[in-house]
Amino acid sequence: MTNPRPENGVVDLRVYHVVYEPSYKSIIFHHWTECNLKCRGCYCQREKLDFSLLPDWQLRLATNPPESPPEKLLSLPETLYLIEELAIERAIYIGIEPTLDPGFPALAKALKTQYQAYNILFTNGLVLPDISNIDEIIVSLKAITPELYREYTAADNRKALHNFRKIYETGKKLQAEITLIPGIIEADEVEKAAEFIASVNPAIPLRINGFISLNGVEYRAPSGEEVETAANLAKKHLNTVNYLSGEMSRVGDPPVRVY
Ligand code: SF4
Repeated sequence: MTNPRPENGVVDLRVYHVVYEPSYKSIIFHHWTECNLKCRGCYCQREKLDFSLLPDWQLRLATNPPESPPEKLLSLPETLYLIEELAIERAIYIGIEPTLDPGFPALAKALKTQYQAYNILFTNGLVLPDISNIDEIIVSLKAITPELYREYTAADNRKALHNFRKIYETGKKLQAEITLIPGIIEADEVEKAAEFIASVNPAIPLRINGFISLNGVEYRAPSGEEVETAANLAKKHLNTVNYLSGEMSRVGDPPVRVY
């Protein structure tokens, strides 16, 4: 089926950047919305490009000033037109909160119906749109202690924790992630996140990310040892705990910028 050509001025979607990973037949959609959280260590507002395109992404995060909004947002027909020649098995929705993008459910539906794509959503979990075409959801928990969550995001975490359980009850594949940030989200908070996840199901995997320093943000990156300590605490409660401490080695062909 041929997708419609771009229609000028139609913005029903808030996708601003699209990347293709040929080795994995993965398409990555970056969304730009007004986020419902104000995370002090938000990477998305420091670097608009996909990190896979940037060998110096850590340096850029450490030196970039806050990004301005994208010049152009793609409509749904424009997005589908751009990807129509690609072999796609997996679609990933990331960026500044895809769940707040009114066009996100329609995009996920198109990827499912036209490509039978395995759809993976990254979200902060505060809002749950139609996820009927989503196969896997990765929820960034930020913090469990309400005061810490509020200090870090300027919001209340009850809805996010409630939605985490709700997603689990749908039977969809669910993962959690949390960023270890010395000075605010410490190892004991990571353990609390693990305890919360275990109260839903200890088989839900948790990924711990080591914070990457941001220009003008007071928090430092944790050492590999600090990340490992947090992971060991989390492993007391969960079957699967993975962690990243900044070093990501690439495997496979280089990614391609589609837009
Ligand atoms: S939820 Fe994500 S996009 Fe929103 S402010 Fe936090 S880190 Fe940034």
